[in-house]
Amino acid sequence: MIRISSETEMMDTFRPVDREEVDLPAGLKFPLVIKDYMAWVEPSGFRTFLVYEDPTSRDARGIVFRRSRPVGEPSVYMCEWCHRVSGGGAVGLLTAAAGSRHRIGLHLCRDLSCKDTIAAKPPSVNDLRESLNEQEKSSRLIRRISEFARRNLF
Ligand SMILES: [Zn+2]
Repeated sequence: MIRISSETEMMDTFRPVDREEVDLPAGLKFPLVIKDYMAWVEPSGFRTFLVYEDPTSRDARGIVFRRSRPVGEPSVYMCEWCHRVSGGGAVGLLTAAAGSRHRIGLHLCRDLSCKDTIAAKPPSVNDLRESLNEQEKSSRLIRRISEFARRNLF
């Protein structure tokens, strides 16, 4: 559980390379308590923002993702974080800045609603079948987020 006490503190969770692009959701109330992570999409849908708790350092970290424009036929993809399988643009390529000139991409739920996918009962018939329970899937999700961020971004 992370507690963010002000807008400045929220902005500080993002790396300097991302900070200019951050558009905080309207009506945020501080202090803000975040369990696992919080994600939101800017009104245009072009960027998705993520603030999560690093499980090792217990620090709050923010990432700005950009949606890549769909090319050609809509395809079906699997989210690499929660294993939701969906077409029609619900799962697609999101990229994050890895340094000032390089971006790194992942196929993810475009609104990063992975937490909700994991909690959904019953799970969607399209999703990858797994024997993990909700708690295990949820810790795997946080681990994947932080591993991705640690390896590529922070
Ligand atoms: Zn997902």
